[in-house]
Amino acid sequence: MLDALRPYYESTDVGEALPTGLPPRGKSPRKSARHVQAILEDAHALDSNEKLNTSSYVTVVLEPEEEAVALMGLRVNLADQTVYPQSFDIHNRCVDTLAKLWHCPPEADGKHVGAGTVGSTEACLLAGLALKFRWRVWYAARHDAARALGEFPNLACWEKLFRYMDVEPRFVKPTFSGSHAGGRGWRLDPAHVAAAIDDHTMGVVCIVGNHYSGHYDRVDEIDAVVSQVNAARGFQVGIHVDAASGGFVAPFQDVPAWDFRCPNVLSVSASGHKFGQACCGTGWIVWRERRNLAEHVAISVGYLGGKADSYTLNFSRPAAGVYVQYYKFLRLGADGYARIVRNQLGGRAAEMAVARFIRCKLAAMARPGGEKYFEFLDAGDAGCLPVVAARLDPALGLPFDDIDLQHAISRKHWYVSGYKLDFVHPTTGEVGSLFSDLADEEEGEQTTMIRIVVKANLSMAMASDLVAAIDESLKYLEAHGAGFFKHPAHVVHVHKAAC
Ligand SMILES: *Cc1c(COP(=O)(O)O)cnc(C)c1O
Repeated sequence: MLDALRPYYESTDVGEALPTGLPPRGKSPRKSARHVQAILEDAHALDSNEKLNTSSYVTVVLEPEEEAVALMGLRVNLADQTVYPQSFDIHNRCVDTLAKLWHCPPEADGKHVGAGTVGSTEACLLAGLALKFRWRVWYAARHDAARALGEFPNLACWEKLFRYMDVEPRFVKPTFSGSHAGGRGWRLDPAHVAAAIDDHTMGVVCIVGNHYSGHYDRVDEIDAVVSQVNAARGFQVGIHVDAASGGFVAPFQDVPAWDFRCPNVLSVSASGHKFGQACCGTGWIVWRERRNLAEHVAISVGYLGGKADSYTLNFSRPAAGVYVQYYKFLRLGADGYARIVRNQLGGRAAEMAVARFIRCKLAAMARPGGEKYFEFLDAGDAGCLPVVAARLDPALGLPFDDIDLQHAISRKHWYVSGYKLDFVHPTTGEVGSLFSDLADEEEGEQTTMIRIVVKANLSMAMASDLVAAIDESLKYLEAHGAGFFKHPAHVVHVHKAAC
């Protein structure tokens, strides 16, 4: 029998290492479709189970109809607006939906300006480019065009947005104690933002919300400070809101204005594949106005016999994410998104309150002597992302840290993030604290933390198992003492295999 026709585990493929490179011409028999699929399925089985991955915000559950729609979109190139006008129309409907959700005023023609991207990273880069060109136009009008080209603008932010853009990063680190009205939390301090702005500042980036802890920057307060600086010094600095996770959560919460309601907000971006509930590879950006954008950031393409602008760094890209996003908008509606947010965060009317449940269970976990294990770094269960961020209380002087805990939890197949709270400056390589006011603390740069993202698929039943896994892991670490993972040679019955 031809090898390719045998059941996979009976074939010679099974005795061979995973192939790299093209099988050479004429030598190897062609593998059957089933065999190739089996090779990929086995590789995939070795990855972590995506439903048990609480370290990422990306949606991993798709209804069968949604998968079918995504597959259909894989064959459609969104860049070909002339050939696939209806698909591009679906894209524009998604942009319009988000613009309305984020209170963006329409252009004179009633339309909104924005783009689908592969994620928030591309969306933020587009926002950054738009800010850069806008700044250059403004600076050239004040000085001269040639000088503006040679100048090096800066961007007040703490993310890596500037990386590809040849601009100076002005990191305004979030403060933990903070003077802002929102109180203690991981947010930008408006006073620090004001101090970072000069006539080379192309914009300020606010985050809704911080992916470490779920806190929202107080865009309303920063907006007021930016207005003051602009008025006092004749600047035109605007704000980009990186709402990668919060863009689909904050609209369904009772929180201060964070979107286009703030007059200096020029653009808002979000990841459709996070709380937008679309599939991986989906992001969005919406701009307040078309002015200055078209000639700098857009490419003009033929569309239904006319011309249309397309804002994107990538040219060819599949329509899968756009299809799934539109599917989710129609399927969930405002009510569905609101219910998902409520279930994750809790609140009086909630049937389940998963993030709060996990936090309360962690808060109750104590050493045999009664000392509580955890301190919390997240924003609680209102007006923030559904995230539980905690660290083992440094005052306990435990012989293991949060990274050890992460490893111990993974024995139960759950994946939680373990982080070091330090920050490597991307241009100087210098290591410091992630927060401007934790640096002075004794343990500042060494502190570790764990974080659990409560995605839509983390049901209460699943969360109960996660909590049990964390409890067992703490007992395990206490029993095995210090450095277990550094010295895994506790194994007896060793032998040196003869091969
Ligand atoms: C996830 C995230 C990003 C990156 O988003 P992608 O969609 O993965 O490209 C950027 N900013 C924040 C605040 C995020 O949470």
